[in-house]
Amino acid sequence: MMQILGLDVAGNPAQWLSAEQAITEAARDKIAWQWGERTFVFRGGWDRRGERSIIELRPIIALAGRRPNVWMRESFPLSNAFLFRRDRNTCAYCGGRFAFRDLSRDHVIPRVQGGKDIWSNVVTACRACNQKKGGRKPEEARMPLLFVPYAPCLWEHFLLSSREILADQMDFLVARLPAHSRARLNS
Ligand SMILES: [Zn+2]
Repeated sequence: MMQILGLDVAGNPAQWLSAEQAITEAARDKIAWQWGERTFVFRGGWDRRGERSIIELRPIIALAGRRPNVWMRESFPLSNAFLFRRDRNTCAYCGGRFAFRDLSRDHVIPRVQGGKDIWSNVVTACRACNQKKGGRKPEEARMPLLFVPYAPCLWEHFLLSSREILADQMDFLVARLPAHSRARLNS
């Protein structure tokens, strides 16, 4: 399913829109500007003269009057799906790439030692490594981290939250990623 990247008035990602939602915004004249190479043409309703309206959409649209979302400025909800994608399905200890079912959420500073369940304290680990590490810190277990945890930024969150991302949307989001983001490697 094609998705349109909707930006708020400040030019930050606001939400992924379905084609239908984007058409509704266009019909209400709520699109400030559009961007992207590709154009999607949709046929709208019939007017009084019996002519059918045509709506053209590009992969990225700025929604006029859309206020920046407050929650976007906070940290994003932590989930295994996003975590594994942030780490590209790679175990932080052995470096192997695994399927979703063979991965787990590892707390770098273990919970039994007071480690928090937050983005900056979790990495993707295969089940074997997670078990081997147990309730120890990496140095205690002599299992050094191959990469470090971090909280995804707004741009990365949007990158990670769409399954089918168009090239223009990818370019737009990746250009705004900080240098440490592993999502850069996907482009
Ligand atoms: Zn492993």
